[in-house]
Amino acid sequence: MATERTLSIIKPDATRRNLTGKIISRFETNGLRIVAQKRVKWSKADAEAFYAVHRERPFFNDLVAFMTSGPIVLQVLEGEDAVAKNREIMGATNPKEAASGTIRADFAESIEANSVHGSDSVENAANEIAQCFGKDELVG
Ligand code: GDP
Repeated sequence: MATERTLSIIKPDATRRNLTGKIISRFETNGLRIVAQKRVKWSKADAEAFYAVHRERPFFNDLVAFMTSGPIVLQVLEGEDAVAKNREIMGATNPKEAASGTIRADFAESIEANSVHGSDSVENAANEIAQCFGKDELVG
């Protein structure tokens, strides 16, 4: 296993319900280290650029509206096998299908308002991190 970095987003449904600390604690207790973090509010253009790969999906406009509906917390998580480990901690996209004890099973409101984002590959992680953070914002 290699040490990796992955992009995490605590989504607006979670910041609205004051769940930031509870979610961060899941990452830290499972061996992931936060090497960058900031709370921001995305513009429509920010969200459209981040989710450009989903542009043709029927839920694209709803997803952009949701991701711009409130503050989010952007994070870079570092650790052994961090990309896959974070996906495991998050659980499946649809909270109804998420394994018990995962963030989405415990906190998500719906398939859209599912509390967290995590990169799905090492390559996408590198691109997403570069999109959201400057190099000097990562402190390992
Ligand atoms: P993820 O990698 O598990 O986040 O899932 P995807 O990359 O497939 O989808 C990106 C995000 O779009 C999800 O986290 C949800 O917020 C949203 N999403 C995915 N599928 C649906 C859907 O069927 N309907 C709606 N409204 N949103 C969805």
